[in-house]
Parts: sequence; structure tokens; C-alpha cells
Amino acid sequence: MIIYQDVASIRSARAQIAPEKRVGLVPTMGALHAGHASLMERSVQDNDITIASIFVNPTQFGANEDLGRYPRTFEADSAMLESIGVDIIFAPSSEDIYPKGKDKNAITFNLIGLADKLCGKSRPGHMNGVVQVVNALVNITQPTNAYFGLKDYQQFRILRTMGEEFHMATNIEGCPIVREQNGLAMSSRNLYLRDEERQQALFLHNTLTKVKSRLKDFQTAQNVEAFVEQELAHYPLVKLDYFDILNEKNLQEVNDLSTSSYPRAFMAAYLGKTRLIDNMSLYDHSS
Ligand code: AMP
Repeated sequence: MIIYQDVASIRSARAQIAPEKRVGLVPTMGALHAGHASLMERSVQDNDITIASIFVNPTQFGANEDLGRYPRTFEADSAMLESIGVDIIFAPSSEDIYPKGKDKNAITFNLIGLADKLCGKSRPGHMNGVVQVVNALVNITQPTNAYFGLKDYQQFRILRTMGEEFHMATNIEGCPIVREQNGLAMSSRNLYLRDEERQQALFLHNTLTKVKSRLKDFQTAQNVEAFVEQELAHYPLVKLDYFDILNEKNLQEVNDLSTSSYPRAFMAAYLGKTRLIDNMSLYDHSS
């Protein structure tokens, strides 16, 4: 496994990979866990060469968010990546990716309709920062496939749309959510949780599971929202940021659950200062 820390050196390494080789890219912000590992394993399986990037991207953090305290565990991360069979780590500095300064790029993206809801609404500018950095990472590493977790479903949907609309040569692949045994979606931010908060963080997965299993009784998204409010009463440490049911293909609102296509439930909640997200498809994929 080779570690590159600047754009010029990974570019020249990339240029030496034979054109017929399949290259997989897995962008991350580090503090790696089993969720990240599943993306790496998928990439190692699908491709000849896997590149993992570790970059805590400043442009996707808001002014009052956790950029400064975001966990950085490079030693443990690289040991994990080596054991999975990742070939290359790309760990650039902010100056490498944003040579003019992180807020100084002249061109940003206009994410029409896909970013004005869910995390895009709660975290203004976040999705733009994600698109900006993934676009840069894809241009630098020119992967055949790039892998993203469905835990960040809106991010995946926006990036896949970018790939399609920009005719990118890279396939944007989505990978299933990896959970702890009790259902909590794995996240680098789970490291922030105190014991009591970790317990109550089960609100997200428990509620999504109940919604899915009782979907037929609810009939409308409005009824589901009322149910979520009721559930919240059992979790005093949880502050709900949003709960929404949207069509997962286009992120449009869904109301009548009996007739709508591809419904997926999305939620974000605070446990103290820690913001967690989760989502679940509400339809049967086999039908
Ligand atoms: P992050 O380091 O949080 O930016 O995440 C890097 C990638 O790992 C993103 O594509 C995430 O969606 C994905 N990821 C994070 N947590 C999980 C999880 N629990 N299951 C699947 N993918 C995940």
C-alpha cells in the first residue's frame, strides 16, 4: 500500500496504471469503521486497484460545525486499509485540494431541487462542498467506479445525478448501510456519544424499523410523522432535526403511501451536540 499526500504525485502514479485496469475510489474523511470497510471491500472485489482517500473536507462543514474536533485516526485507518487490501491512500492537505484557499474557488455548483431538503436544508452549503470535493477527487484519480454509503443517501443521490448529468466516465455506486448489532448506523460521529446518548441514539433505527413494519396502517406520510412525534416522547435526550418520507429516486415529497413510488424515510437527530442521520427504504425491492 502506498500513501500519497499531494495531487502531483498521485496523478503521476495514476498515469502509470494501464488503461485496461479498473480503478475504484472510496472517498472518506477518516476515523474509519466497519461501514467504511464495507465500501473498501466492495471496491477491492470489483476493481484491480483501490484508492481510498482520507480528507476532512473543510468546504462541507458549516461555521458552527465540528470541523476542528472531527476525529483524526490516521494510523489506525491505514492499518485497516492495508488489511483489506487497499492499494493506495490519498491523504491530501486542504491547500492541495483548494490552492486558492478553501472559500476562494470561483466556481460552485447549483444543486437544483436535490439539496433544498433533508441535510442540504439543515446544513446550508454542505452538499455543495461534497460535490465540489468529490468532483475534484474524481478528476484527480479518474476512477472507473466510486463508492458511497447509502447512510448518506441524499449525498449518494446528488453524486449519482452529477455523474449522469455531467457524463462522467466514473460509475457512482451506492453501498448498503452497515449497522452495529443493536441497529445503530455506524458513523465516525458515534465516537462523540456518551453512554446514555448512545443508548438513546437507537431512536433513529428503532423508529425507522417500526415505521416500515407498520406502513400499511399509516396510509399517509402525515400519519407517520405523528407517530414519530409520539415515539420521540420515549427518548428525552433526542432532539429531532427532520423526519421526511421522499421518493428515493428524485427526493420529491411523498404523501399517499399506498400509491407513491420508491418511498424512503429519512431522519436526522441531535444527541447533545452530536448530529446523527439514518434512513430506510419503505418498499419491497423484490416486487
Ligand atoms: P465519511 O467518512 O463519513 O465522509 O464517509 C465516507 C463514506 O462512507 C461515505 O460514502 C459514507 O456514506 C460511507 N459510510 C459512512 N458510514 C457508513 C455506514 N454505516 N454504512 C455504509 N457506508 C457508510
